[in-house]
Amino acid sequence: MSDRKHKITFVVPTACYTPSRGWDKAAVAPLEGATLAATLLQKAGYKVQCFDLRLDADQKTLAVRSASESVAVCIAGAPDSYRFIREFCTELKSYNEQIPIILGGPLSTFGWDTILCKTKVNYCLVGECERVIVKLVECVLQGKMPINFPVAFVHAGKVIAPTRSPKVCMSEVPYPDYTLWKESYGSHYPPSLLYYSTQRGCRGKCSFCALPGRWRPSEESKIASDLTKIRELGVKKLFFSDPTFNTETKHCLAVASVIKEQIRLPWACHIRAKPSSRSFFEVLKKSGCEALFLGIESAEEAILRQYNKGTSLKDIESCLASASDVGLPVWGFLILGLPGETKQSLRKTIEFTANHAFAPRATFATPFPGSVLHHIFLEDAIKEGARKEDVVERILEQVSDLRYDGTDEPMQLPGREIGLVPILRETMAWMTQMAVERVGQLP
Ligand code: SF4
Repeated sequence: MSDRKHKITFVVPTACYTPSRGWDKAAVAPLEGATLAATLLQKAGYKVQCFDLRLDADQKTLAVRSASESVAVCIAGAPDSYRFIREFCTELKSYNEQIPIILGGPLSTFGWDTILCKTKVNYCLVGECERVIVKLVECVLQGKMPINFPVAFVHAGKVIAPTRSPKVCMSEVPYPDYTLWKESYGSHYPPSLLYYSTQRGCRGKCSFCALPGRWRPSEESKIASDLTKIRELGVKKLFFSDPTFNTETKHCLAVASVIKEQIRLPWACHIRAKPSSRSFFEVLKKSGCEALFLGIESAEEAILRQYNKGTSLKDIESCLASASDVGLPVWGFLILGLPGETKQSLRKTIEFTANHAFAPRATFATPFPGSVLHHIFLEDAIKEGARKEDVVERILEQVSDLRYDGTDEPMQLPGREIGLVPILRETMAWMTQMAVERVGQLP
């Protein structure tokens, strides 16, 4: 058994990510996944120190110092933090070559082979952390190899692949102890907005998405108990990080009732377009819902079908109309430039946006690791003779530069019409301008 008094440092990397217009606070609230992993290690007896470098990049020196004095460092990896992670790990190892570095999050889950090949990360935790993180740290501190773990690592120059990652039940997910970020947040603590998942997974199978897995809702009693503790921290607003809040109406209504009766905080969530009645949105609004983030993606039916979106323009219109009827503002996610996109389809998306009341949040199609789009991109590059790790690193380098604020450049994707790039740029400029105007006009 390792010495449980040992310190473990958690680091959330800097990010260029710009949230939807009007939602700046959403970029600097502590990450739920990292908080859950830190909570579990603290409960297991470790001294945990957390740094959120998105809030204050100047804490990097402190984070490196803390990490180099720790028995292990855990990093929360998103694809856009790739470059930071590579450089941070190199710097950290120059102070303490022996420190075990554990990476979690979507970058680790979907990019572990590239990460182990291109950076000084030692262990990539693949999938959900709850059943694994404490056992992994124990194993590493005892000098054992995490064989038969959903963890990838290098041994004798060879990458050892992870076992299949178990999907946890929501009852196994602890209350995320956000007080662990108090020191890092300083005068910004408590953050005005906090993330919380009332469910995990999604029934959708959109091919541009790194699929979030089997759908699992939390029990109403757990949601009520967790949210009561979160409210007691002094938080002003909740953001449900559920991939798709409206997967099941019964679950949505139960959550809305908990918030209305017991929590009484304003909240926002992501939803999927499906035929939705006015009364459904009315219940959400009356419980404090103040914004919906809707996955529209494109106004071209052929693109929705090609990427397996599972929704139609009619569903999207029904959703927008019901939300507008009850005065709920909608931010609509759009993806520009998927292979199959044409000048005509972009025109349709512009017209749809102009004629419907939502604030557009447009991004260029990006082959994020884990998505079908990524595999298409990869296969194409490998056919041309490129090495997988080099191609993935190239994608991650480009993703590390994304800002989502209208200044990004469209990435080159196989199968996309040659000559579409200038039109994509113009469309993005129009969408960005539209977002500015619409945010001021939303209810
Ligand atoms: S894009 Fe949204 S609806 Fe589609 S699979 Fe991903 S989370 Fe589900």
